[in-house]
Amino acid sequence: MTAPANWTWADGPIDGGNAAVIDVDGVISDAWHRQHFLDRTPRDWRSFFAACVDDEPIDSLLTLVRMLDPGLTRVLLTARPHWVLTDTLDWLRRHGVDWHLLILRGRGDGGLTSSQYKRRSLLELADHGFDLVVGLDDDIRNIEVLRDVGVPAVYIHSGYYD
Ligand SMILES: [Mg+2]
Repeated sequence: MTAPANWTWADGPIDGGNAAVIDVDGVISDAWHRQHFLDRTPRDWRSFFAACVDDEPIDSLLTLVRMLDPGLTRVLLTARPHWVLTDTLDWLRRHGVDWHLLILRGRGDGGLTSSQYKRRSLLELADHGFDLVVGLDDDIRNIEVLRDVGVPAVYIHSGYYD
C-alpha cells in the first residue's frame, strides 16, 4: 500500500501491525524556549518552527519511548510543517530517538487545525494496517481525538497550553 506523501520512514516501509503514536513538541522535544513566538499577534509560526533545532530533548519521555515493546512501530506524529523535515531528522539522530515513521504536515495541510490534521493521520494509519495501541500527546484536544478514534491516550503535561 502506498503511504501518504507526508510520511517519512526511518528504515523503510512497514506494512502495519501494532503501533504507538507519539507527539514530538512537548512530549519528547522541549519547545518551551520558542513559545514566545506564539505570544504575539499575529503568532509567528515560521520563527516558532524554525527554532525547533535548538530544542532540548525530554529525557524521561525518550526513556519511556525506548522502553516500549520492541515489537511496536513507533510513529512520531507531529503538527510541525513539512519544511522542518530535515531539521527534525537531524534532531532525532542527534538525540538517539528510537522511531520508525515520522509524520509531519504535508504541503496541503496548512488549513487544518492540529487536531483535524492528527485525526486524518490516525485514520490513514489505521487504513495502512496499523493497530494503534497507545498515543502520547501534550494537547488535550489531540488526546480527545485519539480517544475518539479508539486509541488509548496518555496526556503529557507540557504547560504550553495552560
Ligand atoms: Mg505537542
